Amino acid sequence: MKIALLSRNRNLYSTKRLVEAAENLGHEVRVLDVLRCYMNITSHRPSIHFKGEDLNDFDAVIPRIGASVTFYGTAVLRQFEMMGVYPLNESVAISRSRDKLRSLQLLSRKGIGLPISGFANKPDDIPDLIKMVGGAPLVIKLLQGTQGIGVVLAETNSAAKSVIESFLGLNASVLVQQFIKEAGGSDIRCFVIGERVVAAMKRQGAEGEFRSNIHRGGSASVVKITAEERKTALRAANTMGLNVCGVDILRSKDGPVVMEVNSSPGLEGIEKSTGKDIAGDVIRFIGKNAKKGKTNTKGGGR
Ligand code: ADP
Ligand code: MG
Repeated sequence: MKIALLSRNRNLYSTKRLVEAAENLGHEVRVLDVLRCYMNITSHRPSIHFKGEDLNDFDAVIPRIGASVTFYGTAVLRQFEMMGVYPLNESVAISRSRDKLRSLQLLSRKGIGLPISGFANKPDDIPDLIKMVGGAPLVIKLLQGTQGIGVVLAETNSAAKSVIESFLGLNASVLVQQFIKEAGGSDIRCFVIGERVVAAMKRQGAEGEFRSNIHRGGSASVVKITAEERKTALRAANTMGLNVCGVDILRSKDGPVVMEVNSSPGLEGIEKSTGKDIAGDVIRFIGKNAKKGKTNTKGGGR
């Protein structure tokens, strides 16, 4: 099989591991910088070009699209889909999961456990918003944030009010969320491939830090998840329509609550903490499932 791997940097651990796994399993794989892919979007014969070359013979595409290039990256991926190339994750599912608010709305519609969350636009509504989500301590999140940046813990109602006011004053959209204190600065990353949670790790924030992000100094270790956590992760992945994703769960006193679903989960932390060949699992999933035109995006296909 010929696989395109959309990645901006071939030296990243995840990229290197996916290339290695694909080659070991007898596939041909090519890393493409998504920002160097350009396309003719009006033609009846949709095409993608890369440094002058017409890319037209891929069977599958693995999108590893960073948050900062979501818009362009999903457009390129959609073009592959229109050409009938099998996407590991669909462009629509990636766009959906990148919007924190939209994701929470979709998950809540399915009755999946979530921290109580609120969203407002006008400063006048802040006091009621704070009341609605149960009062301080509260977590305030910039909708565009990643890697823990833009996630603030407000210990008092007055701190919450002034932080929310400041963000709104800067025209930033913020989500206000119940603080799950009992999680103790840790969360569980469930790595989903197809209908299975293939690995799980616990990330623990640095001393005195409520955010568990590895980028903020957190550390990862292997963890055994409960049947309920497994079910929650699979339902969340399914709701987002992602074949491969990382579902982040907090252990709350009311059971597992989903914080976010990541469509390009990193492989380094999960492979190193569990010792599992996750890259191999991803490629084997593609080997089993990839079929020409097996995508929800309707297009020319050729
Ligand atoms: P990002 O996309 O920046 O990673 P997250 O929503 O995943 O943002 O939040 C970052 C971290 O902050 C989480 O991994 C978790 O440890 C902590 N956190 C986020 N929301 C809550 C919450 N409601 N209660 C407790 N901890 C939280
Ligand atoms: Mg996160």
